[in-house]
Amino acid sequence: MATESYGGRRADTGAGYFTVSSPEFAAVVEGWRAAGLAREWTDTFAVRSRDGWSTTTGPVRWAAAGGLRSLVRQLAEGLDVRTGWEVGHVDPGPRVDGVAADAVVLAMPGPQAVRLLDPALAETARAAGAQVWLPSLVATLRYPERTWDFRGAFVNDHPVLATLLDDGSRRGDGSPVLVAHTTAGFAERFDAEAAGAGIDAAVRELLGLPAALRVDVVRWAFARPDGPGAAPFHFGRERIGLAGDAWGSPKVETAWLSGTRLAAAVLGG
Ligand SMILES: Cc1cc2nc3c(=O)[nH]c(=O)nc-3n(C[C@H](O)[C@H](O)[C@H](O)COP(=O)(O)OP(=O)(O)OC[C@H]3O[C@@H](n4cnc5c(N)ncnc54)[C@H](O)[C@@H]3O)c2cc1C
Repeated sequence: MATESYGGRRADTGAGYFTVSSPEFAAVVEGWRAAGLAREWTDTFAVRSRDGWSTTTGPVRWAAAGGLRSLVRQLAEGLDVRTGWEVGHVDPGPRVDGVAADAVVLAMPGPQAVRLLDPALAETARAAGAQVWLPSLVATLRYPERTWDFRGAFVNDHPVLATLLDDGSRRGDGSPVLVAHTTAGFAERFDAEAAGAGIDAAVRELLGLPAALRVDVVRWAFARPDGPGAAPFHFGRERIGLAGDAWGSPKVETAWLSGTRLAAAVLGG
């Protein structure tokens, strides 16, 4: 749930939206909606396949006027959260601020967690290391005017593009800004700096648009787990917890449920 500011305007550069199915997460989302932070965006996406364009209707996709990151910030209100600290190493019997920690939670993609674990933490390393993740590049493209007529589009069987999202309608300010998520195959071949021209050209060709006025690209080395996880979280005898969207189908709701269930297990035992 990442929001970047480009030319003074925010765009969502991580998750494109979120969906809701469990009553527990629905209650959290209702709090965001009541606070004016989140709103129902659309249930209909365009689909581009080899046969041309069609539409598909699915679950309601939710968006946030202030960017999805604003929702995370709201969840953290009132908690003792320290940002800007990079965890470098997790030892057996970890200490936090010099105090022995009862448990540690690594709520991040498994490959990032593995890098932090002391070799003695073999059970946790096995659980985190079993995850395989795929990369993606996310380009934010600004145009002179808004000429497309979809909110989001799934792009099938394309060498560069996987999803296109109308950030102006998503964020509610009507800006002529598209956010393009690339395929893992394209992201494996290009870094963020080299990818902008190729993504711009692919969008231009697909939608018949002029060249974008501005293209900003971020790279996610671990964008999507390759396959759904079987358990909702990991918490073994080493008392190092692993949570996130690899522990179910890869989406925001899964990450929230995974973290919440892990927290209950930590507090319960
Ligand atoms: C391109 C993209 C598109 C997506 N689209 C959708 C979508 O449309 N709908 C949907 O529901 N979901 C989508 N997702 C998935 C969604 O973003 C995730 O499910 C969700 O963000 C997972 O949340 P998390 O808190 O588990 O992990 P993350 O959001 O990955 O958070 C992990 C955090 O750990 C921090 N961290 C990592 N290592 C360290 C360290 N050593 N020290 C300190 N901090 C560290 C990171 O900086 C990060 O803040 C998408 C994801 C991506 C990348």
